Amino acid sequence: MKKICSALALYAAAMAAHAQSVAFTFDDGPRLAETPLLSPQQRNQALLDALAAHKVSAALFVTCGNGADRPAGYALAQAWGQAGHAIGNHTMTHLDLNSAKVTLAQYQQEISDCDRITATLPGYQKWFRFTFLREGNTPEKRDGMRAFLAQRGYRNAYVSLDTSDWRLDEKLNEVLRANAGADVAPIRKAYLSHLRQRAQAYRDLSRQLEGRDIPQVILLHHNLINALWLNDAIQQFKDMGWTIITPAQAFADSVYQQPPDKLVAGQSLLLSIARSKGLGKFPGWERLVDDGDFEIEALKAE
Ligand SMILES: [Zn+2]
Repeated sequence: MKKICSALALYAAAMAAHAQSVAFTFDDGPRLAETPLLSPQQRNQALLDALAAHKVSAALFVTCGNGADRPAGYALAQAWGQAGHAIGNHTMTHLDLNSAKVTLAQYQQEISDCDRITATLPGYQKWFRFTFLREGNTPEKRDGMRAFLAQRGYRNAYVSLDTSDWRLDEKLNEVLRANAGADVAPIRKAYLSHLRQRAQAYRDLSRQLEGRDIPQVILLHHNLINALWLNDAIQQFKDMGWTIITPAQAFADSVYQQPPDKLVAGQSLLLSIARSKGLGKFPGWERLVDDGDFEIEALKAE
């Protein structure tokens, strides 16, 4: 009996060690812009409630110009920190570093300006999330940013599990603006199936590139679609057997320590690693860069 018990304990430990894990991160918040159905305060609270219901400790990457630079938005960001979530930096106005019109100095100024606000919030971390996950269209910008972040003690808060929740959110808003009473069940279904597809695809890619299940870092946004259905999304990960960890736990993994050796890095860290290994076009890569086209097309067919 003792032998069986210890064998079972070993098996359980091995299963836990191999369990796929994921940390939740949310970009672009807090957003004071109006949407159908919920006020900005209600959207913020719905996200926090879903995280609390599942005891998930997440990270919010603040785009300060979306609200945190005004008292009403600052209070929403503060609520994340007070609930135990980490607060990162996602620039003032969400410029695109890959745009020829955006200079390195301008982009860095945006980070410093937003830092002056986030540094006063509970949960503040020196974590930077690149806007659009784009790290610069030239080696000068890319290396300039790497030096800038290192000098200020900032970490590049990579994403491994990139999603197009924002695209389905646009669709949701469009449908509800046209008809506040519209049946949005098909969009909910598309959102959940999109997250499931991306999760499985990035898990497969991690095994292919790293030979193991890395702790994944998922990118979602501070938006209406997550305010409505984040609870279901987290439950779906649990039903898939994934465990949920904190962003700090995920970032401690070795895969997040070394920047990929690629001229122009960006997108999911796993896609950058694939490109740096000359594996840019592996089976199924189109579905990882399609901005959710597959689900949007499927919705049209309903
Ligand atoms: Zn963003």
